[in-house]
Amino acid sequence: MTRLELGLPGIRRDPARMPSTLGRPDTPALIDKFGRVARDLRVSITEKCSLRCTYCMPEQGLPAIPRDNLLTATEIARLVGIGVRDLGMHDVRFTGGEPLMRVDLVEIIARSAEVAQGASISMTTNAIGLDKRVDALVAAGLNRVNISLDTVDRDHFARLTRRDRLPSVLAGIKAAQAAGVKPLKINAVLMRDTLGGAVDLLEWSLENGCRLRFIEQMPLDADESWARDNMVDAAELLAVLGERFELTAPTREDPSAPAEEWLVNGGPGTVGIIASVTRSFCADCDRTRLTAEGTIRSCLFGDDETDLRGLMRGGADDHTIAEWWRAAMWGKQAGHNINADDFIRPLRSMGAIGG
Ligand code: SAM
Ligand code: SF4
Repeated sequence: MTRLELGLPGIRRDPARMPSTLGRPDTPALIDKFGRVARDLRVSITEKCSLRCTYCMPEQGLPAIPRDNLLTATEIARLVGIGVRDLGMHDVRFTGGEPLMRVDLVEIIARSAEVAQGASISMTTNAIGLDKRVDALVAAGLNRVNISLDTVDRDHFARLTRRDRLPSVLAGIKAAQAAGVKPLKINAVLMRDTLGGAVDLLEWSLENGCRLRFIEQMPLDADESWARDNMVDAAELLAVLGERFELTAPTREDPSAPAEEWLVNGGPGTVGIIASVTRSFCADCDRTRLTAEGTIRSCLFGDDETDLRGLMRGGADDHTIAEWWRAAMWGKQAGHNINADDFIRPLRSMGAIGG
């Protein structure tokens, strides 16, 4: 099976084959063998996208998930409810693909917010079309938004995303700010190609009241062109930014938060760097992922998935679904191993997992 065929790697479909829970303590929380507890739920809701970022999607987009295989708004909300109520999730973040490609996004947020009392509801988005929907989304219960933007240069944006849509993204950012979404976080993937525009992007973010975070590119591009030798790392970025800005030492209040924050020119503006490859935060990872097809993925890099959609559609009750989810997370691997010689890329690319 090739990555371009998307595929569902290693899914446990047989309800008789619950992942092993040998040695698992009797606790409702999503604990794993390394003592980590998941509190942050990432929910992918589609494989479709309005962009084709080269570090993520193939040029032709991902193969369409058959409609019947996609979780419905009701099913998503049911699993979010189990996650928050029974498994202790604090944060629920919708992602994809591009969440705004779902026509029923407002319904997904509204139904999820209803059953996720006490948890924050957020979304990672490219912001295309956000200007038309942000008010409805906020009214439905959306608390926070992370917007992905790698460059403020229109030509560069068009090359990187294979679509000339920068003005739509900027309109989405403006609208989110007008709707009171604060602080607005911008995520930028670090690539050799984007390094030259990093200073401009940070300047733009500071001027426009956005909190910018750079992310080291991970080997999760569908085109498989990522190469460790050619990767731009946090140190290289810091050197480039350091020539233009005064950056002061990072403060890290929450060890499970992946971004290291730097004060820019004495503050209050900051810049974050998520060194996911060179300074892996796997040991503090507190995430559990639900794919758009309803499987639990315990790690971005772990292809062994557990099929909650099958269970749910087979009539399983919430208690049983929660037990399977716990078992799936108990088997979470220690880390991504990207820096090891024998590293093997996962079958799914980022857009097919949900970043
Ligand atoms: N379409 C939405 C967006 O772009 O924000 C949500 C889905 S996207 C897969 C989620 C995040 O993953 C984005 O911030 C994107 O920049 C990031 N991403 C995608 N491919 C990546 C890669 N190979 N390495 C690191 N981050 C990546
Ligand atoms: Fe689409 Fe987001 Fe992937 Fe870019 S990063 S191709 S916007 S899913």
